[in-house]
Amino acid sequence: MTTLAVKKNDMAFCPGCSHGMVLEHLSAALDRMKLTPTDVCIVSDIGCIGISDRYLDSHTFHGLHGRSITYAEGIKRARPDLTVVVLIGDGGCGIGTAHLVHSARRGADITVIVCNNFNFGMTGGQHSATTPVCAQTPTTPNGATDYPFDVCQTVGANGASYVGRFTAFDKDLPQRLETAIRTPGFSLLDTWELCVAYYTERNPLNRKTLSELSDSMELPLGELYNRPRPPHPAEPASRSAISKTTEPSNNRAPITLSWPRRTEFCVAGSAGQRILSAVGVIGKLAVAGGLHAAQSDDFPITVSRGHSVSNLILSDKPIFYTGVDNPELLLVLTEDGVRRVKLWERLSPHALVLAETSLNLPDTPAQIERINCKTAEKLVGKPSAALALLSYAIVRGQWLDENRFRAIAEAGIRGKYREDNLKAIDAGINLAHTGFESA
Ligand code: SF4
Ligand SMILES: [Mg+2]
Repeated sequence: MTTLAVKKNDMAFCPGCSHGMVLEHLSAALDRMKLTPTDVCIVSDIGCIGISDRYLDSHTFHGLHGRSITYAEGIKRARPDLTVVVLIGDGGCGIGTAHLVHSARRGADITVIVCNNFNFGMTGGQHSATTPVCAQTPTTPNGATDYPFDVCQTVGANGASYVGRFTAFDKDLPQRLETAIRTPGFSLLDTWELCVAYYTERNPLNRKTLSELSDSMELPLGELYNRPRPPHPAEPASRSAISKTTEPSNNRAPITLSWPRRTEFCVAGSAGQRILSAVGVIGKLAVAGGLHAAQSDDFPITVSRGHSVSNLILSDKPIFYTGVDNPELLLVLTEDGVRRVKLWERLSPHALVLAETSLNLPDTPAQIERINCKTAEKLVGKPSAALALLSYAIVRGQWLDENRFRAIAEAGIRGKYREDNLKAIDAGINLAHTGFESA
């Protein structure tokens, strides 16, 4: 089953850009390996090649410029069953050189495809770490004077298992990719391409002269290293404050939660309310109870002010799509939260909005119920109020039976904040009985 969701000509790359060809080769390699989209995670960062994730129907992860290798290594450690492939440009390679070196040294079992077109295509063709000597770019108008970065020898000298330099026009690129992916340890393909919008506009390079460029730069094409080495032993998942399974010390059977379907929650408030932590506690409890959970957070880069929004998906089945489009619960605590949430009009009439009583809300078809944040703060203190209110919401909306909720919390919560978290959950459950006025 192919992982390529669209044809090359329908991709947003400039006509004649080599990126689409590389994606086709990659898809063919994955087909050859009979990998399904859920077996694969493609990791990308910034640059034209970074938009590739929208064209692949596998797992994808998109992040900061030059950091894709770090994400890929983390993903592989957490999910050693996945085939993890990085798509990075020469720009990202220069920015993230240290990651390349250390990932190779550690023998991370990932495959890196360097989509190397010798310039920063997305931002206008500026020279990059791999720009050939004498090349004309907007930032080297008299010709580049620095020798290009030899990415292959760099990772090869640091322990990479499989390294090769090829071009996007090589017909056997799918086979090369398959070999790279199958070789245990770190593998890298420096894949030479044409940026037709900028690089080839200024420099006489075409598919035929790529090999001449290789000769002139003394950067040979072909397979350079093929020496499989054992992958990095997968490290155990980091110990979280909440155990992965509820293994009660008193020999009782682990507690499992039943959950009928995928359910999306959204909690929206402000920095300092520990909203992300509260959602994390509930997500980890769900996992401890045998469910699947996915959390995604939204906050400004200036962490300590502005909105703080956290989305949670719980399901009895694996969660492949982590977008929250249709939450059944929207818990809104502050004006920042009201402003940040954009889906008011789209909420289902069956969705439950629990909103702090002082807030003005946009029109929504959802059912609205008012809550009093001050009451929760008085009961458990400001840092634990969000967890108390989320616990209230979960029982109020009948997503969890309160006895099971208490039991899983008692068995599953560990660590420094155990007592505070248990107190907050207990207070939230009690609020569902007493209401906010008489609490
Ligand atoms: S700017 Fe260059 S790298 Fe980007 S899509 Fe166009 S041809 Fe490809
Ligand atoms: Mg580039």
